[in-house]
Amino acid sequence: MYRLFLVIVLLIVLYFLFRKIFLGSYNRNRDIRGKSTDGADRQEELDEMIEDPVCHTFVPKRIAVIEQMGGREYWFCSKECAVTFRSQHPA
Ligand SMILES: [Zn+2]
Repeated sequence: MYRLFLVIVLLIVLYFLFRKIFLGSYNRNRDIRGKSTDGADRQEELDEMIEDPVCHTFVPKRIAVIEQMGGREYWFCSKECAVTFRSQHPA
């Protein structure tokens, strides 16, 4: 009778242990998905990384310097790069 009680306690402990591991990993996965989609739809356009054609630095569109040349839009990390690009590509 004592052995049976011991086995039941062991099974309960194992059940909670497995449940904790399972729920822990489930919550972690949900957090990762949550962070990637939380408010990302509206910010996606502005957070898009674009390459500066002069210094090849990647900058988010929202802080990039936009220059229109020959009907095309170019994004730069700074006004200096935009000026450099303009001097290299005279319209
Ligand atoms: Zn640059």
